Amino acid sequence: MDKKVRVRFAPSPTGGLHLGGVRTALFNYLFAKKNNGTFVLRIEDTDQNRFVEGAEEYIVDCLNWCGITPDESPNNPGNYGPYRQSERKPSYRKFAEQLITDGYAYYAFDTPEELDVKRKEISNFQYGQATRMQMRNSLTLTISEVEDLLSANTPHVIRIKIPENEVVHFNDLIRGDVSFETAQVDDKVLLKADGMPTYHLAVVVDDKAMEISHAFRGEEWLPSAPIHILLWKYLGWESDMPQWAHLPLILKPDGHGKLSKRDGDRLGFPVYAMNWTDPKTGDMTKGFKEMGFLPEAFINMLALLGWNDGTDQELFALAELEEKFSIERISKAGAKFDFEKAKWYNHEWIKVQSAERLAPSVKQELKFAGVDVKNDSFLFTIIDLIKDRCTLLPDFVAQSGYFFRAPAEYDTASVKPKWTPEKAEFFKAYAENINLTDASIAETAFKALAEEKGFKPGELMLPFRIMLVGGKFGPGVFDIAILLGAKETKSRIEKAIAVFNS
Ligand code: GLU
Repeated sequence: MDKKVRVRFAPSPTGGLHLGGVRTALFNYLFAKKNNGTFVLRIEDTDQNRFVEGAEEYIVDCLNWCGITPDESPNNPGNYGPYRQSERKPSYRKFAEQLITDGYAYYAFDTPEELDVKRKEISNFQYGQATRMQMRNSLTLTISEVEDLLSANTPHVIRIKIPENEVVHFNDLIRGDVSFETAQVDDKVLLKADGMPTYHLAVVVDDKAMEISHAFRGEEWLPSAPIHILLWKYLGWESDMPQWAHLPLILKPDGHGKLSKRDGDRLGFPVYAMNWTDPKTGDMTKGFKEMGFLPEAFINMLALLGWNDGTDQELFALAELEEKFSIERISKAGAKFDFEKAKWYNHEWIKVQSAERLAPSVKQELKFAGVDVKNDSFLFTIIDLIKDRCTLLPDFVAQSGYFFRAPAEYDTASVKPKWTPEKAEFFKAYAENINLTDASIAETAFKALAEEKGFKPGELMLPFRIMLVGGKFGPGVFDIAILLGAKETKSRIEKAIAVFNS
């Protein structure tokens, strides 16, 4: 019987969540949904030096914002806990020792100073098959020396003993058959001097304990795969090993190398899902959410970085991705990140979302800008009127601010050169008898009055718009006037006439 599908996203809580991490989480989530499986969040926090306060909560918040909430996680555990690696600490040592007993690992007592000496002596020093017999470990010391060192609580680590001249093969669901020669692999530490496992041991023990069926992770973990595969074998668990899928890298916009946070800083776009504030320095790095992306767009954009459904379709809602996702259609090649394209997705998603869906975010943006919206149905109408013009959520502020307060400044350069006392007269007359029951009636009335006064209506539309909006932008000017209402429109016309006349 096939194993039940259980997948995991296993981030280390060390800081902001890179969009590549979110994509790994997304592909795990989609695969679980597609196969009626379980999506697990496991926090890989065994590296105490890299642990960052608040990072775990932040990761959970990011996943929730994206709408890809795990089925099992530290705060919502299932039957496979603990979900934080550090809480499993007591169980790792016995596996490391079992490996020693079976001849697949050894104690190493080399001090940091001794290792430094070796590094100076041997260029590109690697602790492994070429050097292990020159070091202070249970392969070179006698049994009684080792026992003495252990009973004196001498600091030590446990290292895997990588076999010589072997080829480790495995099937990667994305890359096909992958093989590594063991000569390229060093004797990685499995258990550290503080008793904590390293990532290599922990990932295998945890994937086994949590009955993980498929391990999706970034391509940067590919070089670690042979170590993990050997461990699965050496621990006697080979038949339970998950299937591997190493996801293509997300590349810099120019395609040269992996996209890093620094590229975002340098090129002015976010790389993290949400704002991240480093608790030590207080430095804040902006995220997609706060930049004004909708989660629907962010997820859609990420899904298409390295996957497609075989057609030209680019817009996918999460539910559709859940249905259509397949590993077979993940590409091997790295995917270039393109911020303009990311914004395109957002624009497309803003256009199709309902005013009700957009309103809470738009309200918040307006609030940041000092506008407190009280009337929801007024806001819904405005959103529907302007959403086609908004790419990022803050654009709603620039595009709608004039609905909430009269312009403080006008683009007078666009009006004044052609402004005449006759035009001022026209607007005065128009304001006196303004009828704003319906946009097309209002437009007809405006044009009729213009013609009566000897103007081409076209010459008056731009000044009218600038009177109401302040600048040369926005939806249909009569739609704007109707929403503002006759009283406010009249008052704006009068105020602007005074400015244009001066
Ligand atoms: N803790 C690793 C990370 O931070 C997980 C790699 C894996 O999924 O095996 O990405």
